[in-house]
Amino acid sequence: MIAVINISQLVTLSGPQRPRTGPAMRDLSIIENGVLIVRDEKVSEAGNWDKLAGRIPENAQVVDAGGRIVMPGFVDAHTHPVFGGNRADEFEMRAAGKTYQQIAASGGGINSTVERTRRADEGELMLAGRRYAGWFIRNGTTTIEAKSGYGLTLEDELRLLSVIRRLNDDTDLDYVPTFLGAHAIPLEFEGRTEDYVDLVIHKMIPKVAEERMAEFCDVFCEEGAFTVGQSRRILQAARKAGMKLRVHADQLTKGGGAELAAELRAVTADHLEHTDIEGMSLLRMAGVQPVLLPASVLMLGSKQFPDARSMIDAGLAVVIASDFNPGSSPVPSMPLVLSLASTQMRMTPAESITAATINAAYSINRGDQIGSLEPGKTADFVIHDCSDYRELAYFTGIEHARAVYKSGRQVFQR
Ligand SMILES: [Zn+2]
Repeated sequence: MIAVINISQLVTLSGPQRPRTGPAMRDLSIIENGVLIVRDEKVSEAGNWDKLAGRIPENAQVVDAGGRIVMPGFVDAHTHPVFGGNRADEFEMRAAGKTYQQIAASGGGINSTVERTRRADEGELMLAGRRYAGWFIRNGTTTIEAKSGYGLTLEDELRLLSVIRRLNDDTDLDYVPTFLGAHAIPLEFEGRTEDYVDLVIHKMIPKVAEERMAEFCDVFCEEGAFTVGQSRRILQAARKAGMKLRVHADQLTKGGGAELAAELRAVTADHLEHTDIEGMSLLRMAGVQPVLLPASVLMLGSKQFPDARSMIDAGLAVVIASDFNPGSSPVPSMPLVLSLASTQMRMTPAESITAATINAAYSINRGDQIGSLEPGKTADFVIHDCSDYRELAYFTGIEHARAVYKSGRQVFQR
């Protein structure tokens, strides 16, 4: 049993058992001078010192937060954390003036990571994956959604999903697996996209479902990747096989991805840099959560950030995530994502924190377990080295997390 005391702001995010929208995104349910009591891996009580001081059990291990804030671990609802090699070479080419699409057309891009991932053995992928897991944790993230998508053959996609499963078992980070066989058209299928779509639908999805390797299925719906029609077929097959749906939509062009996500009532539509007001209202009516990825906009050197302000005003339960991946977003830091949300998307720090915790938890089907610090929920929490939650987004480029707890157990201390 643990009692964390001397907490300047205990950011609980307690509230109704549903994703937060509109003005509710600004209500973090903060307890000043807070105490957090953890019993059997769960939050037992969260309250004010004056109320709880006399109720701290004698056998509790007392942790003095030293006047710092405590909040739920970040839930990063969009990552691609298993891949061979990296793309520092392309990063340099982009700095020299080439665009992401030009690099992809000349053999770079996702397919260059696919090639390196296919060549890597499971040991290498695990070694790299453990390293990245450490980066997430030291930045205060305790759960990530994790996509496959750099294998693009039946065997390689299963291998990536099994690495994700092993990382979930072996590291202190929780992984929620998503099958993204439709991430790109592999080089050997160039000019035969329909054949690849058939492979995804008839071979990959049944096997992934049969072996219960993924909770979600995602598709990259974009010019140069998969059309709306192909994406629809893939997602319908995945739903039939028992998976929930996510869509990479409207990232580089306005291509109908948001409308498709609404039509299929996907759980999330991700990116949405080019989604207009009509697309937003369709998403709201269908109950789809937008997952916004400002670090990928930053790292691509683009200025086209998604219109988060209009989405919040439209009543959407906005999520923000890192999009950690070797091409467009080599960024595992949620505090940096919070800073970008405030400076580039005009989200307040409170809205960003809601988007990165409780709303993110709902978007990966874990809203009843994580994302807030309320009695009965898993005790995934972080002591950040600041006394006011706004400093998380304000001071940037540093690692704020001082101690990270997963299921009530300390897994990181600075
Ligand atoms: Zn992505």
